[in-house]
Amino acid sequence: MNCDEFVELVTSFLDGAMDEPTELDCLAHLARCEGCEASLDQFRQTIAILGELPRELPGASLSVGARDQLRGAFRAARRG
Ligand SMILES: [Zn+2]
Repeated sequence: MNCDEFVELVTSFLDGAMDEPTELDCLAHLARCEGCEASLDQFRQTIAILGELPRELPGASLSVGARDQLRGAFRAARRG
């Protein structure tokens, strides 16, 4: 998995909405990519601020709008 692939999957990763092999791929990428790890931290904070973290609601998903917003924020962060 490369950074672009990770970005495409990151919202599913945070949702816990991906299958296990894919999740393991993401974790493997995070383990060796400091940039994505740092961006993921920021991502989690952004979700907390948006108040859409599905923490209290297992199985709940981010809205499509929040997803797009996060994807854009992640891409912007990657570009530095
Ligand atoms: Zn990466």
